[in-house]
Amino acid sequence: KAKIRLDKMIAKCTDLTRSEATRALKNGFVKVNDIPQKVGKSTIDLANDVVTFDGEVLEYRETIYFMLNKPKGYVCAAKDERLKTVLDLLPPALASREPFSCGRLDIDTTGLVILTDDGTWAHGITSPKRKCEKSYLVGSVSELSDEDMRNLEQGVYLDGDDKITAPAKIEKIDEKTYRLKITEGRYHQVKRMFEAVDNMVKSLHREQIGGLSLDDDLDEGNWRDLTAEEVKLFN
Ligand code: URA
Repeated sequence: KAKIRLDKMIAKCTDLTRSEATRALKNGFVKVNDIPQKVGKSTIDLANDVVTFDGEVLEYRETIYFMLNKPKGYVCAAKDERLKTVLDLLPPALASREPFSCGRLDIDTTGLVILTDDGTWAHGITSPKRKCEKSYLVGSVSELSDEDMRNLEQGVYLDGDDKITAPAKIEKIDEKTYRLKITEGRYHQVKRMFEAVDNMVKSLHREQIGGLSLDDDLDEGNWRDLTAEEVKLFN
């Protein structure tokens, strides 16, 4: 950890913009090591200085990493004119850092989304070269035949694509419920894979990305920070 300008730190740790942070400083909301600071240009030593905003100690993190259990009805996008986005599920101080999702879920898909503001790290999840495995619980309209399952595992042509899908794993849970593990992330991939074998996805839930599973006790719409060990899974 190093040093950072005070106004930048305020903006990163709260839901204030940089200019709002400047006003809050002027108005006496900020103390550094118990001494009121009225201007933002001083340098904070992140290892030693204690900064408070309105009496609350601020914790500065260079980058943020967390998991979210996405409900239906939200899109994985930074902004949308009509639709709710996953950022609407976060407290303002977190949303204001503008984290983005590492791979998108459709509006009607539920489950694990990893969010970060660390672009380099996100590549460990989304880069096709890394072949990061994503596990989905799929509810289908009808039962898959053994041949359908073999085809899905070996590769199918998705409508509009000229390359077959990479090897996948599929496990039958019951007649109309399957666990599908894929290493690519093509547009609407799971839905299009089921359509490629003349079936259809009725419900879709992501339960795992690489070595990270969605917490059982994380309710839809809730999120939590990743631990340092979990962050390392994708380095
Ligand atoms: N595949 C899909 O079709 N939709 C998703 O949301 C994720 C994977």
